[in-house]
Amino acid sequence: MSWLRAVAFLLLCPVAADAFVCITSKPGGPCVHWDPGVAPLQTFLGDAGGPFLNGTQSWNENVVNAAADWTAVGAAFQFTVTPGQQFTDPCAPDGSGIMCGPAGYSPVFFTPTACGAGFGDIIAQAVDCFGVDSGKMINAPVFVNSTVNLNAFDGPLRPQIHDIRRVLLHELGHVLGLDHPDLNGQTVDAIMNSRESDLDRLQADDRAGILSLYPSTTTCIGDCSIRGSVTPVDLLTLVQLALRGADASACQSGDVDHDGLIRVHELLAAVDSARSNCPAPTA
Ligand SMILES: [Zn+2]
Repeated sequence: MSWLRAVAFLLLCPVAADAFVCITSKPGGPCVHWDPGVAPLQTFLGDAGGPFLNGTQSWNENVVNAAADWTAVGAAFQFTVTPGQQFTDPCAPDGSGIMCGPAGYSPVFFTPTACGAGFGDIIAQAVDCFGVDSGKMINAPVFVNSTVNLNAFDGPLRPQIHDIRRVLLHELGHVLGLDHPDLNGQTVDAIMNSRESDLDRLQADDRAGILSLYPSTTTCIGDCSIRGSVTPVDLLTLVQLALRGADASACQSGDVDHDGLIRVHELLAAVDSARSNCPAPTA
């Protein structure tokens, strides 16, 4: 038995300054999640559309980049993105309103309606399809409103156009199981807030969310407290460990080569990891 949850990304408005929220399979149920932690997306947005203001050349490139941002957090979760081949409409033809489509099939595609219903002021909509009792994801189509004027750009919002990259970043957050903090009593900077904002990249709350849903003990290089980011305190800890040649137990995630010591090259790797928002570690 499966259930669906439609979630949306609204236009415009502010974002203020406490914690992520997951989509639960039913009241009191588990957070919906991918098991194993891999979500295979098929993009039908296309290999054209650009060049865009952010320098990308195609819609598909922006799907890949948005998915890579989530994967790079280093949680026990990753997206895989492949160009779609044969498109199957996820909308049930019987008019039942079911928007899931075949199990295992998660297309990202343009459409003027959400299975016949108008989008209103919604730019895109991810539909999470999952087992009600287990919370295990089955698939998650992403409907992108083809009647909206879309481009791809970094930085503050612009008049008349919308940034496909941050829209996708938000929708893919739903695909992995996150909900809207601002509609659940939270006031926090997050891509996962329900309204489009000047934020164009994942925020600390977004990263904490995915790390909570898909915990990993090997997240960012040098992320001593396993919070999903490398903080100045983490870096100072690594400097002290490197200077004294002490063992790495105070910050095991900084010991890339697993020799029990923090060395200068590992300190530098942690700086790189912090500057690039913590990619998954490579020894
Ligand atoms: Zn949303």
